[in-house]
Amino acid sequence: MMRYSWEEFARMMGVEPQVLENKEARLLKKFVDDLTYPSHCKFCQGLDLSNLNPVHHPSYELTPACNHDCIFCYSNVAVKLGNAPRPGYYGWDNPKAITVSQYGEPLLSPRIVEVNKLLRERFPDARLDLQTNGSLLTEKLWRKLDFDIVMISLDAASREKHLAITRADTFDRVVNALKIVGSDKSVRSVVRTIFMPGINDEDIPKIAELAASLGVDEMMLQPLTIHELNVERLRKAGLDFDRAESIKELLKAAMEAKKYIDVRISGCLLAQLKRMDALTLFGVRRVAREVAPLVKRERMELK
Ligand code: SF4
Repeated sequence: MMRYSWEEFARMMGVEPQVLENKEARLLKKFVDDLTYPSHCKFCQGLDLSNLNPVHHPSYELTPACNHDCIFCYSNVAVKLGNAPRPGYYGWDNPKAITVSQYGEPLLSPRIVEVNKLLRERFPDARLDLQTNGSLLTEKLWRKLDFDIVMISLDAASREKHLAITRADTFDRVVNALKIVGSDKSVRSVVRTIFMPGINDEDIPKIAELAASLGVDEMMLQPLTIHELNVERLRKAGLDFDRAESIKELLKAAMEAKKYIDVRISGCLLAQLKRMDALTLFGVRRVAREVAPLVKRERMELK
């Protein structure tokens, strides 16, 4: 039996081989191969694809309240549905990393410094990650805090766009928070940005440039999860629902940001993308819809 190379076979079928090649797909593949996991994702069960029901890092919840009202936020949805976790530790003994917090704005709580100390004492070997919108962070407060990673959310590169997304006029304060953490080299500083095509595509490289200029170490670019209760607000803000589900679009945004900053994309997603070939990556979509966010970890009393 005659054996043909795929190029010869394509020509016999009347197709020029380069038509079957997709340069953009190969570029995406190379980009994904080279990407490293976000610092925050290290030790998360989401990176282990053999785990069929991974749970997120342990967290300490301080308050479900927030001074921002972001159009995509799962925490607001949880508050509206009445299933936001009550304050406390959601995890297990000997955690490798703890997030403060996954819901609400932890810096709104007067207990933040006390809880930070409690976690350090109770779990001296755990990495402590602060997840905040940054608007309440001041130099004075920062000196009292002790975290290993700090993630500050920023989804817009202008005051107006920030106001439209967060419903809060706090852009300058968030930028100031990035400056505070970016200039402290004892902490890993991360700007956390949600990709919302149609709303903030053009802002993403600008946020990357701004954060890098303030000394921020990393950008964690995350795909948008669309919660049913947020659909109308996202539509009004101009979300392109179709592109929000495209991996290619997310990766292209990450490539733009990479020109300025060490960009990473959500670890649990990246772990899957790294296993795909170029053409699958080019065409793959993710289900971006979710109804209700739930904490899958048990609350545990800390003694
Ligand atoms: S983005 Fe995914 S891998 Fe990273 S911490 Fe969250 S759940 Fe875990």
